[in-house]
Amino acid sequence: MQVLKFGGTSVANAQNIKKVIAIAGEAIKKDQSIVVVSALGGVTDLLLDAAMLAANGNTSFREKLKIIETRHKLCIEELIHEKHISTISEFVDKTIQDIFNLCEGLFMLGELTPRSKDKIASFGEYLSSKIIAHAFLQQECNAIWKDSRELISTNSNFNNAAVDFEKTNQQVNDFFKTQQHKLFILPGFIASDSNGITTTFGRGGSDYTAAIFAAALHADDLEIWTDVSGMMTADPRLASNAKIIPEISYQEAMELSHFGAKVIYPPTIQPVMNKNIRVWIKNTFAPEDIGTVISNEINSKQNVNIVTGISSINNISLITLEGSGMIGIPGFSRRLFESLSNEKINVILITQSSSEHSISVAIDKSVSERAVNAVNHSFSYEINLQIVDPLKVEHDLSIIALVGENMRNHTGVSGRMFSTMGRNGINVRAIAQGSSEKNISAVISTNDVKKTINVLHEEFFETTFKQLNVFLAGVGNVGSKLLEQIKNQNAVLQEKLRLNIRVTGIINSRKMLIDDAGINLQDWPALLNDAKEADFKNFINEAIALNLRNTIFVDITANPTVASIYDQLLERSISVVACNKIAASSNYSQYKKLKDLSREFNASFLFETNVGAGLPIISTINDLMHSGDAIHKIEAVLSGTLNFVFNHYDGTKKFAEVVQQAQNEGYTEPDPRLDLGGTDVMRKIMILARESGENIEMEEIENHSFMPAECMQGSVEDFYQKMEEHELHFKKLFDEANLSGKKLKFVASYQSGKATVGLQHIDSKNDLFHLYGKDNVVLFYTDRYKDQPLVIKGAGAGAEVTASGVFADILRATKL
Ligand code: ADP
Ligand code: ASP
Ligand code: MG
Repeated sequence: MQVLKFGGTSVANAQNIKKVIAIAGEAIKKDQSIVVVSALGGVTDLLLDAAMLAANGNTSFREKLKIIETRHKLCIEELIHEKHISTISEFVDKTIQDIFNLCEGLFMLGELTPRSKDKIASFGEYLSSKIIAHAFLQQECNAIWKDSRELISTNSNFNNAAVDFEKTNQQVNDFFKTQQHKLFILPGFIASDSNGITTTFGRGGSDYTAAIFAAALHADDLEIWTDVSGMMTADPRLASNAKIIPEISYQEAMELSHFGAKVIYPPTIQPVMNKNIRVWIKNTFAPEDIGTVISNEINSKQNVNIVTGISSINNISLITLEGSGMIGIPGFSRRLFESLSNEKINVILITQSSSEHSISVAIDKSVSERAVNAVNHSFSYEINLQIVDPLKVEHDLSIIALVGENMRNHTGVSGRMFSTMGRNGINVRAIAQGSSEKNISAVISTNDVKKTINVLHEEFFETTFKQLNVFLAGVGNVGSKLLEQIKNQNAVLQEKLRLNIRVTGIINSRKMLIDDAGINLQDWPALLNDAKEADFKNFINEAIALNLRNTIFVDITANPTVASIYDQLLERSISVVACNKIAASSNYSQYKKLKDLSREFNASFLFETNVGAGLPIISTINDLMHSGDAIHKIEAVLSGTLNFVFNHYDGTKKFAEVVQQAQNEGYTEPDPRLDLGGTDVMRKIMILARESGENIEMEEIENHSFMPAECMQGSVEDFYQKMEEHELHFKKLFDEANLSGKKLKFVASYQSGKATVGLQHIDSKNDLFHLYGKDNVVLFYTDRYKDQPLVIKGAGAGAEVTASGVFADILRATKL
């Protein structure tokens, strides 16, 4: 004997039922088979909605019932041959009429009891099983329909009845033993109490019906046919990378289903586990897929994962009982749980603080009000004495559970779980770990469920990719180059680093585009062009609301508003990669605040390209400092623009023209006066000093500017104009150096807490002398690099290298 159960989607319409008939047709070639069916997908909801509306005096219940009628009629028209249709058609009409009558009764009465709810809900399975049995019969299949209510006896706990196994097993055996049919078709979900009144097992309960038959008859197999190809590592609707679990133990399947894996109704496992009956989860729409087998015989080679699956339950409320009076006094928890159990409130998770100061219990939201009343009543004496606080209740929570028998053989699983969640800014409200170590569960905000499932799935299952979500502000020269580099490099990153970078948002001064499935980098310019008007605040709000995992915000603007948002992002564990220097070079307290937030919320704040474009300058300081070195002195040429200008200027072309050329080639800041006046270099040496551990502000840096004061007043146009007028001044600077065989370099230095910038004459023996084009050079004198400095040298400006520096920061922010 084998038992096959087909769920709501599998029998949703005639087309699907034909697939069911084909599968069952194959099954009976092997052995006698029992087919248990659900209601046509969605019908139970419709029935219960109609009943609720009717009881509330809302006449729209009739429309709901009409939909039910149409669905069943359409189904039989498409499924049953004309020759055979009249009997089933009459049956459907009569049953629908019964449902109408019942709902009219509820409408008149204005009430819906648990008992009438079960009666109404039972019609879904009653109709579907009759129709499907009829479809088998028209094929002259040796089949028979039987009402499960005549075989399964329960108590009278309507909506969630408990089976009387002794009586049920006897009835089931008595019936099937006397039958020679090849195939039996029965409704799932429904049973009857000792008075013959209809009861149900609760939503999703058809799986349980099938398990009851399988266990009673010692069936060889129980097959649960549904719309997915097996039990998966996570709910596929939440984690698109979820994978089929080929084999799983009864215990693990039970844990996963108890913690929300809807693919199997939680009580289903118990009866079949006791009889060691294998359970298969199979896909009606892909019957050739192997599916999942649930049993005691796990082939350890297949099951190499530490974690078997992740699941979640929504609609959780957390109630907390706390107060000074609880310390050391026995009986508090007993009284708490007693008052919950008296109210028949199911406790899903419990945590107790080690000081015994508080006990938190997770329960379903629908019973939270009852729980609060019951517990407050039970502790009213202590609450009045103020030794216990009134029960605290929090809503909109969910439970997330990691399940796997292998977890007990590995240390550090919970550490990995919680650090992964922490890195993504997921706040954990309560934690429980079963002593069997098969399950670690945590209470989190419902908003975070999808993100949590995905980051945990990545952490524990994905040998494929870790996904990064990048939001980019600024797509000028550098931003465009960055997008090109990401596009070209993504395949390599996937292969070498198991990293998949998705650009999820782009904003420039005109437009903004957000797509949480990832923006197509082949044609982002066109997509951005067609996108909505830029609104930076909305852009950030949307980025935050999406609550995506591994999010990195990249700022390639020079905009103070953009820089002012970093703290809000870091506080939500969103990493910030800034090409924009404003934040790192603002006052020290702001710089320090961002660094501290980055540490506190485990999000990176990186700005390598603030100094020396793509050169690894800041990362080198960090490496030196982290490994215990100390930086005593820095000498550097840090302005690509100024180096370009002084390398190209010899009086043949005007100074202003050379500056203009540097601007045209994209080396200068948007406002070139920041470069020429030395402000940009001051910011850079300040950032290097700060990264070396110095608390330093802009005002403390000496700037020996070579620019005539007059050039720095007015607009950028005035600036070019005035430089022309002062050409002689620049020529003189050049000649003085040139006559003594020296070069002009705008040098930044830092030593013993002091930083200076200014133009210097550099002779050919100096490390700074051989510096060409727009190159930068930095010399570090440290404990370890005492006599000869550590030198970093190369292009210090340019879109391509700057973009590559930003790219490197993005990769660093993933904490590989
Ligand atoms: P049926 O109507 O066939 O009983 P259900 O809707 O009750 O089907 O259960 C199947 C659904 O369970 C799947 O479509 C899937 O969305 C959901 N599901 C949740 N968690 C899991 C999981 N871990 N593995 C597979 N499916 C899951
Ligand atoms: N039809 C019932 C429900 O939708 C039972 C089931 O499908 O398992 O909950
Ligand atoms: Mg189900």
